[in-house]
Amino acid sequence: MKNFFVAFCIFFTSLFFAQQTDDVDFLSATANIEFEADSTRVFGNVNYRFKMLKDADSVSLDAINMKFDRVALDGSSFENYENNQKRIIFRNTFKKDVIYNISFDYDAKPKKAMYFMKRDNDNQIWTQGQGKYTSNWLPSIDDVNDKIEFDLSLTYPNNYEALANGKLIEKQIGDSLTTWRYDMQKPMSSYLVAAVIGKYNKKTETSKSGIPLEYYYYPEDSLKVEPTYRYTKQMFDFLEEEIGFAYPWQNYKQVPVHDFLYAGMENTSLTIFSDAFVVDSIGFNDKNYVNVNAHELAHQWFGDLVTATSSEHHWLQEGFATYYALLAERDVFGDNYFYYKLLESVIALSQQDLSGNGTSLLDPKSSSLTFYQRGAWVLHVLRYKVGDAIFKKAVKNYLEKHQFTNVETSDFIAEVEKLYGQSLSRFVNYWIKNKAFPYDEAYTILKRQSTFINEYAMVDCEAKSSKCEEYLKYYVSDEAKVKVVSQMPSLVTSDVFKNSLKVRQAISEHVTKIPEALKEDYESLLDDKSYVTIENALYNLWVNFPLERSKYLSKTRKVIGFKDKNVRMLWIVLNLNTPYYDADNKQELFNELVGYTDETYNADVRIKAFNYLDLIKSCNDICQSNLEKAKSHHNWRLVKFAKEQSENLENKVD
Ligand SMILES: [Zn+2]
Repeated sequence: MKNFFVAFCIFFTSLFFAQQTDDVDFLSATANIEFEADSTRVFGNVNYRFKMLKDADSVSLDAINMKFDRVALDGSSFENYENNQKRIIFRNTFKKDVIYNISFDYDAKPKKAMYFMKRDNDNQIWTQGQGKYTSNWLPSIDDVNDKIEFDLSLTYPNNYEALANGKLIEKQIGDSLTTWRYDMQKPMSSYLVAAVIGKYNKKTETSKSGIPLEYYYYPEDSLKVEPTYRYTKQMFDFLEEEIGFAYPWQNYKQVPVHDFLYAGMENTSLTIFSDAFVVDSIGFNDKNYVNVNAHELAHQWFGDLVTATSSEHHWLQEGFATYYALLAERDVFGDNYFYYKLLESVIALSQQDLSGNGTSLLDPKSSSLTFYQRGAWVLHVLRYKVGDAIFKKAVKNYLEKHQFTNVETSDFIAEVEKLYGQSLSRFVNYWIKNKAFPYDEAYTILKRQSTFINEYAMVDCEAKSSKCEEYLKYYVSDEAKVKVVSQMPSLVTSDVFKNSLKVRQAISEHVTKIPEALKEDYESLLDDKSYVTIENALYNLWVNFPLERSKYLSKTRKVIGFKDKNVRMLWIVLNLNTPYYDADNKQELFNELVGYTDETYNADVRIKAFNYLDLIKSCNDICQSNLEKAKSHHNWRLVKFAKEQSENLENKVD
């Protein structure tokens, strides 16, 4: 699940068109979009208002594989346009300083950027603009440097919910169709425009400053709303206060969707996230939405309010979102959590450098690790250097000065320098521009800041093995104990089981050969409030104590686990391999496992099911046909997996 966490949202390159933003400024767009139920077709009517910055003989919009009709310029029918399936180009004598209105009908069948899903026989539609181009479903500007006020209206059959950026100002319910009208008051880059349609309920809270926070959820998930959205209001209030610049949009909506491409995406005022993060209160302990929640929220300022001009400055989005998410999490989970996360980043960044893959933070081809974690580190060190007061004031000034426009690294550094009174060019070279990340220095700073990190560094069984038993007995942090358990699992005694959930999880992970004397303690892991622990413990107990298999299976038969059904699928496979247990039911269970390869399940569920079926060499016709279909899925991870898996299958047949 780790890489799922790393790729919060991907970076993209702004391509051609740099010069169009010099000629024309698109001001606002009003778009009415209608969807045919059960098809993947989109019909729209759009009006764009734009101001000429220079005289020009053409103006264009990005529009991929669309048909146009009823084109009008300032209200009069207009024929002089060209549609090359990538752009629509309007030819006219456009005059400097004049404001024009262009309107048209269009229809499209988007191949990407808008996705049409099925979820338990209901439709679900969602969009992803970053890296995929909104112009696949809405004629718009793929260049991030023209910010437009987008007011979307969506029309869809009744009994669904439709969401778009901004505030819902009107809902017209007809006999069979409903139209939802949304209003934005401020401009944004086109990649942040979003729409979601599906079966949802919502819960609303209000921030301290009066902003409505809307939490959407599937109707059957009402008990999961609290654990899924836990700490949202606290983090929202914290970030407004910490950043010192009021939340820039009218409301903040979050909505989980089926089979999303990433963990989350920070569309303006409308964050879309993977429904794999919808958890119950047990799942919360292992895999919660808190970090992604904070990250996408921080983007509402860093990315949405101010947007990097190009991917060279991508860290102004991802580094800031990662850093401010960490600050919000520090407010929730405390200092040790904060420093431990920074330590994990230092370790990952140093490994990247040592393997020769380190890059400058300003290299557009940098890894997510560099953009996100190194970016966050730069801010942490900069704050350490210039002090809290100057840092906070500089961030506030930077946002105030550049709000609703585009920014580069020097724009931010200039604001810090102004208050700091000294040049930061050496800092910029050393921490930002250099290929090497100064991990020794970062580690030294951490140790200076946190006694917890010092202790963690000291507890090391590989260096001082004689002390390890003591570490497990006496008070050291949970993280340090986890380190000991991972390094020396044979030291685990009955007393070690008395530790926290986290330490017990490490036992389930690292103690795979279970001594008879620990059997009872180990069995107690099956009651832990952690689906990771239960999954590990069930497997290890089943392997270590063959005579007790029925007991373990009976105890866990009702446990599903995460949204990816981790415990359930393991349970089925173990059951199928326990001949005497539940013998009548085996075919049904096998069918259930095969069923999880179907496209109505999230990619993670399907990959897990394909893997298990491969493991027990039972990928039957249904499984194989689902594997074939998976090759043309919108999720590249699933596609890659399906291609590799079918190659393996073919090789085995030969
Ligand atoms: Zn991000």
